[in-house]
Amino acid sequence: MRHAFFAERMAAKLTKYEDDALALKIHSVAIIGAGTMGVGIAMCFAQAGIAVVLLDMKQESVAKGLSAIESRFHQSVKRGIISGAQLTEAMALITGTCEYRDVGDVDLVVEAAFESMEVKKQIFSILDEVCKPETILTSNTSYLDINEIAQSTHRAHKVLGMHFFSPANIMKLLEVVRADKTDQQSLKTVMALGKQIGKVCVAVGVCYGYVGNRMYACYGREANALLLEGATPGQIDRALQQWGMAMGPLAVNDMSGIDIAYKARQENGGYSNDPHYFRAADLMVEANRLGQKTAAGFYRYDKDNGSRIEDAEVLTFLSAEADRLGVVQRSDISDEEIQYRLIFALINEGAYILEEGIVDRASDIDVIWLNGYGFPRYLGGPMFYADEFGLAELVAIIKGFKKLTGKGHWVIAPILERLVETSEKLALQ
Ligand code: NAD
Repeated sequence: MRHAFFAERMAAKLTKYEDDALALKIHSVAIIGAGTMGVGIAMCFAQAGIAVVLLDMKQESVAKGLSAIESRFHQSVKRGIISGAQLTEAMALITGTCEYRDVGDVDLVVEAAFESMEVKKQIFSILDEVCKPETILTSNTSYLDINEIAQSTHRAHKVLGMHFFSPANIMKLLEVVRADKTDQQSLKTVMALGKQIGKVCVAVGVCYGYVGNRMYACYGREANALLLEGATPGQIDRALQQWGMAMGPLAVNDMSGIDIAYKARQENGGYSNDPHYFRAADLMVEANRLGQKTAAGFYRYDKDNGSRIEDAEVLTFLSAEADRLGVVQRSDISDEEIQYRLIFALINEGAYILEEGIVDRASDIDVIWLNGYGFPRYLGGPMFYADEFGLAELVAIIKGFKKLTGKGHWVIAPILERLVETSEKLALQ
């Protein structure tokens, strides 16, 4: 926990990018898209006393967004998080519009529209035309390439990512994505602004899924593979919770909706040709088991009280699919195998991310996992945990997984092999 404390302070420092540029003061922002994320992001700024213009395509979407904000603020008052006076003040700072001319004077824009490159490019080219030259343009995209989005403007140096996590007004983590042409001033401004609105900020580079989601995909990949191999959703979730995660991966997937990542995999082509890759999740979506919203996903949900129930039908689906794919199901899958396969998969991907220079230091990855993914704080984060566990043993176990599963994705990150040879730690990289 001492490591976590210092890692968060270190992440706020842009040590590799020191220059004389001063952060700009942001007095007003525009949010494009009044959906799930736009609403939460607007709340973050208004609560910090920053004026917000919320823009959507239709008047009814704007009105729906504004009323969602008001009702979420009322919930915060009920819970004693903010006072009635603070609610009134925050609401007075938010205005809605469908007209781009109303966002021309803002200091910064956060785009939170549909996750489509075409949509985002169109929005950024309009923003580039209507906004004053100093305005910084950011996107909340989860996966898309900020460099490509930046190319649709004439101010690529003022374009970057602000990747909030859902619910945006609650989750502490903000991945600040610096694109190739982002200048120091814009980066510093967004890091300072993130801090001002109460976020724990980590600067990251561009790659598919950035740091958190890219690593999470490896963790999810293993959960899905283990389901085909014969583990049950309940066994996987219990094993990870016992290990220390706030929630198991399949319960999380049911909560957020299995179809969301499914659509992203379909649209972006995922990043694997393996026929087993997320096959269990795809199977659920094909059976219209989308998670809690359809009262069935990896689990069944009681229609009256919403409680989670293990479902034999899911196991039947999975064993039939395993047969079809020629996967031999095992009855000897231990909790330890489940824990290590999921956790080591994300550590190995984290090591690649570190090696590629997507983050400045291993502890930045820890900060992301502690604040965005329910990683147990007392274990310090995945990279700190890897050092504590012992890199030599970790590498040996990963080699065992490669043998066991026969999967090519178990390729050890070269940095791990090097550190084992020199008896060094990730923490110092
Ligand atoms: P959503 O579908 O709830 O909301 C999108 C909103 O954008 C809608 O209200 C839509 O009318 C509006 N919109 C679409 N095109 C527009 C345009 N051209 N101009 C103005 N408004 C437009 O989506 P969401 O879940 O809020 O996601 C928004 C973005 O945030 C996506 O890029 C997504 O990948 C990203 N994101 C989502 C999550 C999440 O958990 N939902 C987390 C992090 C990032």
